[in-house]
Amino acid sequence: MAKPALVVVYEDREVLAALDQALQTRFGADYQIIPAATPTVALDTLRQLRQAGEQVALVLADQWLAGMTGVEFLCQAHALHPTAKRGLFITYGDAAAGTAGLQAMALGQLDLYLNAPWGPPELQLYPAVSEALSQWARSTGTLGPPPELVRIVGPRFSPRSHEFRDLLARNSISHGFYDAESEDGRRLLAHAGLEAAGSPVLLLFDGRVLVDPPTDRLAQALGVQTRPTLGRYDVAVIGAGPAGLAAATYAASEGLRTLLLEREAVGGQAGTTSLIRNHLGFHAASAARSWPPARPSRRWCSAPSWSMPSPPPACDPPIRTGSCPWPTAARWPAAPWSSPPESATAACPFLAWRSCWAPGCSTAPR
Ligand SMILES: Cc1cc2nc3c(=O)[nH]c(=O)nc-3n(C[C@H](O)[C@H](O)[C@H](O)COP(=O)(O)OP(=O)(O)OC[C@H]3O[C@@H](n4cnc5c(N)ncnc54)[C@H](O)[C@@H]3O)c2cc1C
Repeated sequence: MAKPALVVVYEDREVLAALDQALQTRFGADYQIIPAATPTVALDTLRQLRQAGEQVALVLADQWLAGMTGVEFLCQAHALHPTAKRGLFITYGDAAAGTAGLQAMALGQLDLYLNAPWGPPELQLYPAVSEALSQWARSTGTLGPPPELVRIVGPRFSPRSHEFRDLLARNSISHGFYDAESEDGRRLLAHAGLEAAGSPVLLLFDGRVLVDPPTDRLAQALGVQTRPTLGRYDVAVIGAGPAGLAAATYAASEGLRTLLLEREAVGGQAGTTSLIRNHLGFHAASAARSWPPARPSRRWCSAPSWSMPSPPPACDPPIRTGSCPWPTAARWPAAPWSSPPESATAACPFLAWRSCWAPGCSTAPR
């Protein structure tokens, strides 16, 4: 089968030649780069590719073309190749193209935009095109399914089986589910030396077998930190949704020893959506089921110390509050996170406040 196509339309011949050369250099081994100077030629090519049953991974266009705008062209290209990603070149300072691009993005007519001129291609052009190609490959399954890091073998309608699947999906751990009564399920159980089980059995990629493990044990087995490593922290943030991630990252960037506690999955509610475009820390249009699905971009992950669900530790010694009256030790256990046991990650023995800032911190809340 022919290599997937990457079609680029630009009226300026010099720019088109430069684009062609840059894209050939980096992507030519895996994609056929097809330059076109007019949208009419490009659309003819796209029709031919469709008739030939060939794949188109990415279509890039300048906004200002002969006879139609880049956005209009991309809409027509989408009708011919619905899975192809679409990118628009916007020249710096071109407010009209910028407005058209933003509107197209809001209407779902555009997947990315690229600034022109782009300078050394490594800085902007290649990363943007690579990301778009990666999204295309993931969304079309072109590269095949990811390896199953965890195989769940369990009763099909067991709530616990569902919980494991949900937890692994939200944490971007590729996994497969096998009904314990199915042929594959029985074979996997036999391979692990087990008979059909009433509870879910988790077979890890490295041969470890966990029978209906508590969540924290599964998290540990997958390399997640479930206990804070430092004895004392300056700031503890409960919940790694967008708000917690932002707070923890900025606290850590200010040099505060920061602990971020999350009971389910980094990304919070945002991790349940299939597509998110406008959250801090998320790649543009990152798909929740991609790898990493709802995981924020790497810059989030480097700063704070992370911790995942752990059994509720006994609050002995209790939280010490230092000089900051907010929140007080007395208030903590009463907060919403105290309800389910594992959410009380509250990490009582680990927290100590050397200093903290909070609105109204100077006066103790009543
Ligand atoms: C399906 C869906 C699609 C969405 N799409 C968009 C969108 O496209 N654009 C947009 O702007 N917004 C979107 N939203 C809304 C957006 O996701 C939320 O506004 C945002 O996630 C709120 O962030 P948060 O950090 O305040 O809270 P949350 O995202 O709710 O995060 C709170 C985190 O705290 C954790 N937690 C709670 N209690 C404890 C505890 N006791 N111990 C440890 N951890 C705890 C939870 O597990 C959770 O991870 C969407 C929401 C959903 C559900």
